[in-house]
Amino acid sequence: MRITDVTTIKLRYEPPLAMADAIHYMPERPTLLVQVHTDEGIVGLGEAAAYGGFLESTEALILGELRRTVLGQDPFRIERLWSMMATRAHQRGRRGMLMMAISGVDIALWDIVGQATRTPLYRLLGAYRDTLDAYASAGFYAVGKDAAALAEEVGGYAARGFKTVKIKVGRNPDVMLNPLHDMHANDYALATLEEDIERVRAVRAAIGPGVRLAIDANNAWTPSVAIRFMRQAEALDIHWFEEPVATEDVDGSAEVARQLDVPVAGYETETGLAGFRELIARRAVDIVQPDVIWTGGITECRKVAALAQAHGLPVIPHVFSSAVASIANMHYIASLPNGGLLEFDQNPNPLRSELFEEPITVSPDGTVPLPNRPGLGVRINQATIDRYRVERHIP
Ligand SMILES: [Mg+2]
Repeated sequence: MRITDVTTIKLRYEPPLAMADAIHYMPERPTLLVQVHTDEGIVGLGEAAAYGGFLESTEALILGELRRTVLGQDPFRIERLWSMMATRAHQRGRRGMLMMAISGVDIALWDIVGQATRTPLYRLLGAYRDTLDAYASAGFYAVGKDAAALAEEVGGYAARGFKTVKIKVGRNPDVMLNPLHDMHANDYALATLEEDIERVRAVRAAIGPGVRLAIDANNAWTPSVAIRFMRQAEALDIHWFEEPVATEDVDGSAEVARQLDVPVAGYETETGLAGFRELIARRAVDIVQPDVIWTGGITECRKVAALAQAHGLPVIPHVFSSAVASIANMHYIASLPNGGLLEFDQNPNPLRSELFEEPITVSPDGTVPLPNRPGLGVRINQATIDRYRVERHIP
């Protein structure tokens, strides 16, 4: 079998109300799908992360650089193709957008191998489990959403059967060195540190003591602010503390992890095995959070998970984009002995809930089964593609 083409699909959904985490303003959900075509008619599907960026930036890497590398090649040689894609660009980018682009192609290659061997991808990867436990990921900032409204929102997830929920903290312009100051819409839906404590307290009261609560600061804080905040929030029984400090501040994150009993989780904003090696080996995280559409595909994320396992650490991937990101990460998570928990975005996004003919759904007991079909095991809903497809994302 030979690769005959690599193509992309650009999608964009604009929710009625913009949302924000500590530093990122999100008025839209841009999505970049990747298709790898073969001479046997099998087409592999993947997604390349595009968080906050223009879709054309990552698309140019895929169509201009990676496509040329994989054309005419055997799609089963994923390790070799991954290495060629990464090595040929090494003078210009070893992390960031290059890894996002490689991720999209890599996932599509694994989908091809699964389809060609008539095997669900997670079974090809070792099938540690057949179902995942989902956690509700939401609790963003939005205009007019006060602590009471947030508590009502998150209480609803607990009522629907989620045993773990996660909310955002850190959108604090009063905090020194908060990257928020340099970001788009840095006056949107702000909170003081004290108000953030109140937000966490209100959510804990709404969900009760039996539901696990994680908080996510999206790189907003310095180590001292993170430690001080968590000492105040400690009585609220925080299950994990996600991305407390800047991604590059590995020593700072290790200090936060050392000082606190609450596990530090991260860093979705890191890419590549070498980046995760630093986080893991230097004990900057207690929970490791790669993402197959961002970190470098399934190939690279499996190595990250193995490294985490060697250090006795669990892997709870970042999953926050289209249904393709969800299903690709699901296959990966199901293959891991040190995984099992699935991030399930609760914000409205038809690119997650309507992209497949059979949507990924959470059972009333909070679990999600893996599909028993070859490869990723999904069929795209063409009407959803037609509705949200954009030819140009640059305004
Ligand atoms: Mg996060």
